[in-house]
Amino acid sequence: MQLLEDVESWRAWCDEQRARGRTIGLVPTMGALHEGHVSLFRAAKRNGDLVVATLFVNPRQFHDQRDLAAYPCTRGTDRVAAERHGVDCLVEPTLAQMWPDYPAPTATTVSVGALGDSFEGLGRPGHFNGVASIVAKLFVVTGPCRAYFGEKDFQQLAVVRQMARDLSFRVDFVACPIVRDADGLALSSRNAQLSGDARRRALVLSRALVEVREHPDTASGHRRRLAAALGTDVDVAYADVVNPISLRPLHDDDEGPGRALVAAMVDGVRLIDNGTVELVKEER
Ligand code: AMP
Repeated sequence: MQLLEDVESWRAWCDEQRARGRTIGLVPTMGALHEGHVSLFRAAKRNGDLVVATLFVNPRQFHDQRDLAAYPCTRGTDRVAAERHGVDCLVEPTLAQMWPDYPAPTATTVSVGALGDSFEGLGRPGHFNGVASIVAKLFVVTGPCRAYFGEKDFQQLAVVRQMARDLSFRVDFVACPIVRDADGLALSSRNAQLSGDARRRALVLSRALVEVREHPDTASGHRRRLAAALGTDVDVAYADVVNPISLRPLHDDDEGPGRALVAAMVDGVRLIDNGTVELVKEER
């Protein structure tokens, strides 16, 4: 496995591989790798891509500095996991390489407007500008590629897809399903911060999503069922049913596939999850 931290070597490596006729599969991560990340490496391998994984904890997408400070860092084991799971090139760019002006703001910021203002963007102004800006840089340096993102961060996927479309990046997106623990909890680098009791309480998120998936209903019926299933044991930030592309909340006269999005604070740890729902029109 090639290990790089310099932007120009990373750009050159990708250019050279493409010149040899290889396709690049880019997997952006913030490290603390788990089976969710590994599923993206595997998906890229299955498609025959050379897997380029990036490992960069992007400070510009953290609104709360305590959250940034608490973000797990497991560099040594990440390198072992990346190599074991078929990553061909692991890029660990330094902060100075990615954001030479940090902590001063950059003059240029990529913003996706309203798509980044709702849900995870609410109460975290600038979060998705930070995400869109860093992912734009990853795409520019990597060059034409397939990019693998997890549906776990459903709004992030919608944001970067919209950004790539609006700015004509030569990137094909591959959305990968959420990997869960046997009890249903969606894998997340943040799960390590949960105490045993908090982890047990966190299971209401995935259970609520199973409830709505198994009961086709109107948008308001889904919202009621979600709220009831989430209960009061966790501090719910939002629970909604949205259009899977625009993320606009759905109405009772909508039908077909939708996406349920939930977020909750559990013992000071913010958890997100989502799943498919089927909307049926209200009988009149
Ligand atoms: P992160 O390191 O948290 O920024 O995540 C890097 C990539 O891994 C993103 O595309 C995430 O959506 C994806 N990812 C994280 N957790 C999971 C999971 N449980 N299942 C599938 N993909 C995931």
